[in-house]
Amino acid sequence: MRRTPLKAMPFPMAFGFSFGADKIFAAISFRTTYTIKMLNKVISTVALSLTIAVAPNSFAKEVFNYGTFALGTLINVQTKNDTKEEADYCYKEALDEVNRLEDILSAYIDSSDVSKINKGRGTWVKINPETAQLLKLSLTMAADTAGAFDPTIGALVKDWSVDQPEHRIPKADEIHADIAKVDWKKIEVKEENGEYFAKIGDDQTITLGGIAKGYILDKVAELTTKKGCKDVLLSFGGDITGTGTNGKDKPWMIGIQYPGAKTGQYFATLPLDNESVQTSGDYERFFIQDGVKYHHIISPVTGKPVPATLSSVTIIGSTSAPADALCTALFVMGWDGAQEYLKKHPHVRAVLVNGDKKRVAATEAIKDILTVVVPTLEVQTIIPEKQETVK
Ligand code: FAD
Ligand code: MG
Repeated sequence: MRRTPLKAMPFPMAFGFSFGADKIFAAISFRTTYTIKMLNKVISTVALSLTIAVAPNSFAKEVFNYGTFALGTLINVQTKNDTKEEADYCYKEALDEVNRLEDILSAYIDSSDVSKINKGRGTWVKINPETAQLLKLSLTMAADTAGAFDPTIGALVKDWSVDQPEHRIPKADEIHADIAKVDWKKIEVKEENGEYFAKIGDDQTITLGGIAKGYILDKVAELTTKKGCKDVLLSFGGDITGTGTNGKDKPWMIGIQYPGAKTGQYFATLPLDNESVQTSGDYERFFIQDGVKYHHIISPVTGKPVPATLSSVTIIGSTSAPADALCTALFVMGWDGAQEYLKKHPHVRAVLVNGDKKRVAATEAIKDILTVVVPTLEVQTIIPEKQETVK
């Protein structure tokens, strides 16, 4: 339909990997709808991606590396195999699954379930099981975060169009009108005779941009494992899932991008033991007008990009999708609000970087695996609230 291989080319060095081995392969392909101008734009977006896979000291020969464009960002697949043929197979399986799910879940594709639900204007719309599953998880995450994460924020996201050429500062009355449309409780999902349907409020627009990348990571990791690709590191615009081990037979090592610093410069590292790392930040997608920065994470309460009390939120989780949504929600809550949430949810492994990028707050649950490598950073631990003991 639209995926034309471009040509094999070296993976962009700006991404932050150090390649020494000639066994590393890169295949770049992209949607035919992208012009070369768009391609440059995508590369610059990716160059600011949030979390970086840290290469082992030297890649063992059997780790193969692939890059492509999808989901509006750069995706990278590293796979450890005995032969290039096996690695090609693993990459193809991963990419096919990305493309399949993108077609269903993207708000940027007219025929996707998300677009159909939006065009349904309050009527029941038939959807794929995956969309139903993700909508249900979105509702759980919206409830858990008291609506800080809310997929019905679509109209406001469109108003600002931060990541699009037509980005602008919407008028106050537009914002006011579209805040009124935000209410995740109006999303309904049902199953009838093995088929799935969804319905939203007749004036609502949904976007799954804050959770679908994580969900697709989960599904791709699940599929590649099932297909026998045991050691895979997937990075979709800096959101990462690792299965198995790296070229040194050790857990994949991840660096967390230092917000605002050069791409590839990380402030902390952690090992990834069959887990995922998600990051939300204000420095990847934004525009500046009259000296003011407007980023892509919108408060459902004010209808505006949330104030810059945080630069990034990173969560490590056993799965990606809930962590993806929670990152976005914690970013909305801000430096203080996020810490309040984390004190009440001590199992969450999270790292926050504050607005001026001088302070880091990490939960006790992540402390043991997190290594902060920027000595000037002030690091504090988020101590869980004491649980009331029931007598
Ligand atoms: P996150 O913090 O995880 O999410 C931020 C995004 O969530 C915002 O961009 C907005 O869409 C939404 N959001 C903002 N505030 C809230 C809130 N309070 N509650 C809930 N959601 C909120 N981008 C393109 O430019 N072109 C494409 O073709 C394209 N296709 C995509 C297809 C898919 C399937 C997906 C999932 C994304 C696509 N994107 C595309 C979007 C792009 O990849 C986004 O950058 C990404 O979804 C945002 O993820 P993040 O990890 O940067 O930020
Ligand atoms: Mg994310």
